[in-house]
Amino acid sequence: MAVTRRRFIQIGGAAAGAAAVTGLGTRWWGLDGDPVPDPATAGDRVVPSYCELCFWGCGVLAHVRDGVVTKITGNPAHPLSNGQLCPRGAGATGLLYDPDRLKRPLLRREKRGDDVFEEVSWDAALNETAKRLEEVAERHGPEAVALFTHGSGGVWFKHFMKAWGSPNIGAPSYAQCRGPREAAFTVTYGTPLGSPEPLDIANARCITLIGSHLGENMHNTQVQELAEAIGKGAGLVVVDPRFSVAASKARYWLPVKPGTDIALLLAWMNVLVEEKLYDADYVARYTTGFEQLAKHVADKTPEWAWPITGVKPELIRASARFIGGARPASLVHPGRHTVWYGDDTQRERAMAILAALVGSWGRRGGYIAQEKFELAGYPLPADLPHHKGREKADLPKGGAYPLATEVLASGLCDATKPGHSLYDLKAWIVYGCNLMQAMPARRQLVETLQHLDFMMAVDVLPSEICGWADVVLPEATYLERDDDLSAPAYKRPFVAIRQEVVPPMYDSKPGWWIAKELASRTGLGAWFPWKDAKEYVRARLEKKGLSYAELAAKGALVGPPIATCEEEGLPVSASTADGKIQLFAKELQDLGFDPLPVYVPQEEGPPGSFRLLTGRSPLHTFGRTTNNRLLAEPYPENEVWVNADAARSLPGFEVRPLADGERVVLVNQDGIRSNPVRAKVTQRIRGDCVYLVHGWGQTAKKLRYAHGRGASDSDLTSRYKVDPIMGGTGMSVNFVRLERAGEAA
Ligand code: SF4
Repeated sequence: MAVTRRRFIQIGGAAAGAAAVTGLGTRWWGLDGDPVPDPATAGDRVVPSYCELCFWGCGVLAHVRDGVVTKITGNPAHPLSNGQLCPRGAGATGLLYDPDRLKRPLLRREKRGDDVFEEVSWDAALNETAKRLEEVAERHGPEAVALFTHGSGGVWFKHFMKAWGSPNIGAPSYAQCRGPREAAFTVTYGTPLGSPEPLDIANARCITLIGSHLGENMHNTQVQELAEAIGKGAGLVVVDPRFSVAASKARYWLPVKPGTDIALLLAWMNVLVEEKLYDADYVARYTTGFEQLAKHVADKTPEWAWPITGVKPELIRASARFIGGARPASLVHPGRHTVWYGDDTQRERAMAILAALVGSWGRRGGYIAQEKFELAGYPLPADLPHHKGREKADLPKGGAYPLATEVLASGLCDATKPGHSLYDLKAWIVYGCNLMQAMPARRQLVETLQHLDFMMAVDVLPSEICGWADVVLPEATYLERDDDLSAPAYKRPFVAIRQEVVPPMYDSKPGWWIAKELASRTGLGAWFPWKDAKEYVRARLEKKGLSYAELAAKGALVGPPIATCEEEGLPVSASTADGKIQLFAKELQDLGFDPLPVYVPQEEGPPGSFRLLTGRSPLHTFGRTTNNRLLAEPYPENEVWVNADAARSLPGFEVRPLADGERVVLVNQDGIRSNPVRAKVTQRIRGDCVYLVHGWGQTAKKLRYAHGRGASDSDLTSRYKVDPIMGGTGMSVNFVRLERAGEAA
């Protein structure tokens, strides 16, 4: 029987399964937050759009009856959803009708961070913002304003920044997430991977997950493809200290000691080379540096890796043979959240090299080519007025981290602290990202915020970062606004539309309107000549002869098929300087880094402590959804996973061992304490680490549901280790001990 995505989720995780089976869209919540009878699910009107419960961008169909959005379903015409949504996407009405939404613009009235605001008119809020930004530009230059952004509406604020004259635009999704992966693949193959990743999961015969818990990390299309691959007989190799959902489906589960992945990857390569299980012809034709690599891994045997990783040599050998045996349709998944130990670019390099050894780059079932749907930009007039700013505060090239390919959000924070060698950022615009949870070392961040002359936050909900802003602007949810087109590179090029399903509730406004109004108040109105986002999108489409009406009706237009791999006639290629895949990276060597990945032991924690690992729930997108009553029903708070054997000998629990479901407080190496959190005592995790789903322990009081629920991994992440190659902040370097809640000192 083919394993469908739904069945995959069901068999994988009880909470996720419940969400998928009951169908979140069939339950409806009143504006007061209490469940009320479902008015109907069919709707009398169906509006296509694309989802923003996370940033994957699946196509949705919003069903509307009597002006109320009753249900969200997947759009079959959209290649990222194929008619199916993940539980979060189906729960979008929980965001739209969240009773805690920001309703009107706010101006700070007390000390920054006291979270005391006055409701004001849009005119008052925007005039104040324009005045404060201009004061900063006059004193320090326009480049002293930085933008932090996450989400599709950020495009309007990026455009504003271009007009304003500041290149300082950063997103935590780079240096606090996928950055090391992008740097490693750029060094090895000459190109970052981007999103959606160019993977042919559906046709892989072996899928290796090392640092990815796909199925819990719910990128809809990838999970659908994973289920399809399993249904077709693909085998999984899962490397994870925790017995994840994916591990429960795996042929091989390698419960590796956290921080030792590079040693395991080198040992796998040793087996592939020693047993000639690599693709010798491919390696000879398309790569450079094999001899150095073979020499480098010659002594990195499974026996060498065993005491380091805790994985037995026979398991390392068997899994390596399986990975090599499935070549070239042997997919080493690159992961997405890749900032763990500060050596992450090298870890990702090892994964990229392994992918090349099995010949999967450019081949079916491996890494494939993607293209963007051909679109035109909006025809802007020439010679627009603008400030002339300096270069980026945090230069990707030539800065402290030479192989960073994007601005580091952490670099912008550093450039806000007094005494930065190049810069003195004085104002922040924060669009759609709760920096209090996205950035490590919260106490340092709070200190940094005090150095700002001004901060504006644009959000749908009163997230933690809003409490630190001077001006808070309520944005309409994605179901209440038109937006720019979505057309990421994909194996089937497509363009999708976002359109207003219902008018904005309260006094919220779409991002395009906010950015346009701000521009007109700062003398930059000529940069926003369109009447509204609809007109902007229409102009872009018409320039290419595309019909707005057709796109609005279908939700997505799909381009002609493209050749994506060698099997479809596309030659294997790399975009590096010499056109070869760099097994040995001279570029790294020239910069003083190891040209081949080297295992370096990580620091251990204090005795009696556990390394704190974090991950995702299929029902939540970080802290963005923890206040969503629909998604909270099946997953109301996070829990800390603790190994059952370790739980029996916990210091302080000698008389009465920790029981499953009991609440504990986590205390990190710097004495930071979490909220009481439920313990999941289980054999499904190693004894040297504990695990939390990220995004809980909200401190924002106005998020009435989420406030105080669960433990905040962000707060416990008081330390981080910077990746010297691209500046990513490795965050799995914190340790916690457990105290029984109620008995804590
Ligand atoms: Fe929405 Fe889920 Fe798709 Fe993300 S993966 S865009 S939450 S349906």
